[in-house]
Amino acid sequence: MPRLLLATNNAGKVAEFRQLLAGCGWELVTPAELGLTIEVEETGQTYAENATLKAVEYARAGGLVTLADDSGLEVDAMDGRPGVLSARYAGADRTDQERVQAMLQELAGVPDDERTARFRCVIAITDATGRVELVDGTVEGRIGHEPRGENGFGYDPIFLLPDRGMTTAELPPDEKNAISHRAVAAQKARTVLERWLRET
Ligand code: IMP
Repeated sequence: MPRLLLATNNAGKVAEFRQLLAGCGWELVTPAELGLTIEVEETGQTYAENATLKAVEYARAGGLVTLADDSGLEVDAMDGRPGVLSARYAGADRTDQERVQAMLQELAGVPDDERTARFRCVIAITDATGRVELVDGTVEGRIGHEPRGENGFGYDPIFLLPDRGMTTAELPPDEKNAISHRAVAAQKARTVLERWLRET
């Protein structure tokens, strides 16, 4: 089976991609498994630019077809922030828990109907020849008032799915993986990967 490098050191993303791309015909490998320790600076202004940056740099370093995701949380009451800066919101060296607390504080007093938000994900897939394909996905929700649930990562404990009455951290992983922004994008990525498999 050809190998596909996942250009991320985020354990939460790796776990989700393993489930989302199961059976796609590619063997998923992580930078750690290849002994790669590069850090890519996310200098782009958009998810697409950052996903492409990560995919291209890891593909060059690892010499494999590579998939990178850039994602973020857009909160309407914060004019769409933190968006592409989600991993660095409230400071580069903060923990996920500290970011969640900072966001709850920033949104203190904002009523429920103004707490609408969405997760967005863009996936870039590239190979050694430099061709890049981009796909994306979103999921709509609302920011809660306190953290709930132990699953997922990042902002999941405060991302409420109003239809379910649960946060994405309360959902079992396979249910998050059926509806998330990353799931929607990964489904499209699977189509690209299957096509590339036929072409190689
Ligand atoms: P990046 O894609 O590495 O720039 O990081 C995106 C950041 O957005 C993550 O570190 C999380 O804080 C947040 N994020 C992206 N996807 C999710 C998700 O599925 N759940 C919770 N937080 C997420």
